[in-house]
Amino acid sequence: MLAPGSWLGCLGGGQLGRMFVHAAQAMGYKVLVLDPDANGPAAQAADDVIVAAYDDMDAIAAFGRRVAAVTTEFENVPAASLEALGAMVPTRPGAAAVRIAQDRRKEKRFFVEHGLPVGPFAVIERAEDLRDAPGQMFPGLLKTATLGYDGKGQQRVTSTTQALLAWMSMKQAPCVLEAMIPFECEISVLVARSATGEVRVWPVQENQHVNGILDLTIVPARLDAAVVDLAQTLARQLVEALDYVGVLCVEIFVTANGLLLNEIAPRPHNSGHYTIEACQTSQFEQQVRALVGAPLGDPSLVQPAVMVNVLGDVWFDALIPMQPAWSEVLALLGSHVHLYGKAEARTARKMGHVTCVAATQDAALATAVEVKRILRIP
Ligand code: ATP
Ligand code: MG
Repeated sequence: MLAPGSWLGCLGGGQLGRMFVHAAQAMGYKVLVLDPDANGPAAQAADDVIVAAYDDMDAIAAFGRRVAAVTTEFENVPAASLEALGAMVPTRPGAAAVRIAQDRRKEKRFFVEHGLPVGPFAVIERAEDLRDAPGQMFPGLLKTATLGYDGKGQQRVTSTTQALLAWMSMKQAPCVLEAMIPFECEISVLVARSATGEVRVWPVQENQHVNGILDLTIVPARLDAAVVDLAQTLARQLVEALDYVGVLCVEIFVTANGLLLNEIAPRPHNSGHYTIEACQTSQFEQQVRALVGAPLGDPSLVQPAVMVNVLGDVWFDALIPMQPAWSEVLALLGSHVHLYGKAEARTARKMGHVTCVAATQDAALATAVEVKRILRIP
């Protein structure tokens, strides 16, 4: 295990990196962040920052020389940069797993190859691929194969013609066409695997999205034990199949006919923020543990939790800038406010989250409803 006091590298400077930095520092490590933004959420908290583009190979090499191990906080770091770092220091997760998660084509094929359940899809690289797509793909979602997040780079399409038009508007970038899944609910599962192959799975969380962005996470998910069990088994299978080291999240649709994998994130996840207050080990502490080669922590739930995402919208009232009523939120029993230090609030931008914990799920849900009312989140 790397001794506390060692320098850890974090590629990426967003809120996930910020919370990783907090966890690493709490355990006595120092963190060097590499990010193009000198004042991003993680850079503000880090012990030091290299301000550079993720594909600046000189900066990547300088970064690698200063740290004992590297992790990443978002999946769009060029796999080549991770590969270069992997040749210098332990890099967790490694380039191979991240490369799969970065590209919906590779991701879907990986699911199929490993017998993991996935909905109907077609890889779109030429106009013929769209023309050949069977009728069962509509209504569907056309998603760019790379660089999508928070529902960006996606268009709902109901026919081949409409899909062709949508694809033109996406500049004919490689895409995946997915059939619209009539899901009963969405869940996600966080899982961690160590370099020695130890695997730990958190309780399953239930997620509600608004406009393609996570709005609410409810834990434990209100599902039969058998469904929870299956979801956790799929998460285990995934990290084994990927030979993964680190924290990973898998997003799953719960349908009348069973579970279908949506996508994976090779890092901690927005739907896992509740683990900070509600679990024995948070997703960020686990990321540190996996990175430094420590034993993995116990992921079990200590108390029910509901997380409310806070988007930039709450800083505006009919387009007029305003300060949200934080003191009212903080007055609620069991509410934990997290703000990411982003300088500018913008519509649909993730600015923070509030985790509500309570002795019962109903009580946690009631607190979350209050949080949403106070912050005027629809
Ligand atoms: P994020 O980064 O927030 O996870 P993303 O841009 O990677 O988002 P997806 O997870 O693929 O995008 O889709 C965002 C949301 O859109 C999903 O959580 C789900 O609510 C809805 N969605 C995506 N694909 C489908 C589908 N095939 N059928 C039904 N709903 C879908
Ligand atoms: Mg998603």
